[in-house]
Amino acid sequence: MKKLLFSLVALLGLSWGAAAAEWRVAGDEKSLYDLLNLDYPGLKAVKKAVAKGDIATADQELLKYFRNRKKVSIYGLDMENITLSQEEQMMADQSLEHKFYAHKGYQPSYFYGDDIDWRYWPVKDNELRWQLHRHYWFIPLAKAYHLTRDEKYVDAWIEHYTDWIAKNPIDGVERLKADGASAEEIAAEKENFRFAWRPMEAGRRLQDQLTEFELMISSPRFTADFLNLFLRMFHQHADYVLHRYSEKGNHLLFEAQRMLFAGIYFPEFRDARAWRESGIEILNREIGVQVYPDGMQFELDFGYHIAAIDIFLKALGMAHVNGMEKEFPASYISTVEKMTIVTYNLLFPDNTNPMFGDTKQHNRSTLKRQFAAWSKVFPANSQLPWVASDKKEGVMPYYTSQAFENSGFYVLRNGWDKNATVAIVKAGPPAFWHNQPDNGTFEYWHRDRNFFPDSGSYVYGGDEEVLQQRNWFRQTRVHNTLTLDNRNLEKTESKLLLWKDKGGQTVCVTENPSYKGLTHRRAMFFMENGVLVIADQASGPAEGTIGVHFNLCPGEVRYDESGLRTLFEKGSNIRIRTLCDAPMTITPEEGWVSKAYRKKEKRPAYAAEARKATDESRLFITVIAPVAKDTTDKIEIAAPQQITDRSLHFTVNVDGQKYELGYDLE
Ligand code: CA
Repeated sequence: MKKLLFSLVALLGLSWGAAAAEWRVAGDEKSLYDLLNLDYPGLKAVKKAVAKGDIATADQELLKYFRNRKKVSIYGLDMENITLSQEEQMMADQSLEHKFYAHKGYQPSYFYGDDIDWRYWPVKDNELRWQLHRHYWFIPLAKAYHLTRDEKYVDAWIEHYTDWIAKNPIDGVERLKADGASAEEIAAEKENFRFAWRPMEAGRRLQDQLTEFELMISSPRFTADFLNLFLRMFHQHADYVLHRYSEKGNHLLFEAQRMLFAGIYFPEFRDARAWRESGIEILNREIGVQVYPDGMQFELDFGYHIAAIDIFLKALGMAHVNGMEKEFPASYISTVEKMTIVTYNLLFPDNTNPMFGDTKQHNRSTLKRQFAAWSKVFPANSQLPWVASDKKEGVMPYYTSQAFENSGFYVLRNGWDKNATVAIVKAGPPAFWHNQPDNGTFEYWHRDRNFFPDSGSYVYGGDEEVLQQRNWFRQTRVHNTLTLDNRNLEKTESKLLLWKDKGGQTVCVTENPSYKGLTHRRAMFFMENGVLVIADQASGPAEGTIGVHFNLCPGEVRYDESGLRTLFEKGSNIRIRTLCDAPMTITPEEGWVSKAYRKKEKRPAYAAEARKATDESRLFITVIAPVAKDTTDKIEIAAPQQITDRSLHFTVNVDGQKYELGYDLE
């Protein structure tokens, strides 16, 4: 097909630019009718015109058909209640001046030229260039049109899209080669193709085109010949994604869900059934591959975990509103429910989330809407509406601490309300690109304040400068865990050695083979009053400087011989004290926290450091204690009474209360 297309262009003797200008990029107008099933109910007049070779009439009949066909629901698009947020209005209006909303992290939007330059790349961040090709402002244009009936929005959409089609042809590289273009031109085209036609972006466009079509097909500007082009491009996108599915991970899920939408929405295409079935097959397979038995998505990133839930449910919802839900088995649905349960367990009482890996701070009202949507799918689950309603409806979970052992997330919790204390530990298996070498790290939330927010990710990938920024936030040392010579972990494969939750105390012992010659065992003891005690053991033949890192929330702190203390005037405060079985120094470190893409804030950070010789093990004991009314500022940590390979017993004293702590492994 592609080859045929190319030879047609060559035969006509057109350069690709000229051909593109005549919209021949996805085959000629006639070729559309090879892609459609002309025996589909309602297409009789179209078929008749095609048989006569009268493509203009066929296009007219096809437009008539699509404007009047039986509605196909697009799951998630409520035609009776189309709204345009302020941000969407801004995206639509700016685009009229070619200021395109390419990425949330790069605002205000850049100007892409009167003659649009789709290769413009003002900051060499890959995301900026990739996401431009997601055309985020297209749906806002469609909604703005639907709400105002102002044709300028349709005109802008058609202008931008046809320009994009002309300048980003799927076979641009082949055409340039055939034209004998220079090596530089071909290289630039290849680079452009990599951004414009990454399956993730093609899938996004494929999905959004449904909403654009639905909201604008009635416009007089949506002409019969534009319809012909639109449908050819739509088919090209679906066919492309079908043959170029990403190998794994959330991208594959997104693509499969979008193919299912494509296949259901345009049953008139001959390939529609294959698109739909491929989407369903992949989602049914991948839910088994990508979701651990404990319900966490295998990229170990809260943001993508939630995205995966939405993908699975969107697919199910689209199948449901179109009478095809039987294509998903019951196990699919129960797995998604498990994923929603992990989600609320990983939330702090103010509905903020830990930012492990590439996770950003999720928008809280979006999250509430997501929980509300999920609770409709799982009406028997009374915790989902509890989260969705800000704890006003539904039922609070009956448990507190919870271990998700397969994915390595451990929630140490003494309650669910704003007075609670919650520590979330990340100590799991290796994951993928969005994961970071951070095993053992934790966040600690106490009474409305997260004292140890994860550093986050700041940016994804790009040129060296952008990568350097990313790599800073990925470092092990900017996480609350143990390092050897401040190096990044060589292995991220934690095992759970012990989980015990009884008698007002939660004990969680995990171990990671962090470096060649160095194992890190971290035991956490979480008390009912929110006191957290951490015992870090570094063992193995490696020698060097062992550091236990603490990255705090932005704010003033004071450090003296009694330890560290936060100095917030309002709300709660904590103290931290660390003791080591060898001479220890406290070293201030660079600290940043990033809650959103390209946004960062300075914060205090430090490491408790001590040397370790080859034949030694090292033990650090840290107490993190909330500042309570009766605080005497006295934290005492006694030398361990017992320490072996399999057991550890020691005593700490916090404000006069003695805690006998320890574990014995079987
Ligand atoms: Ca991180």
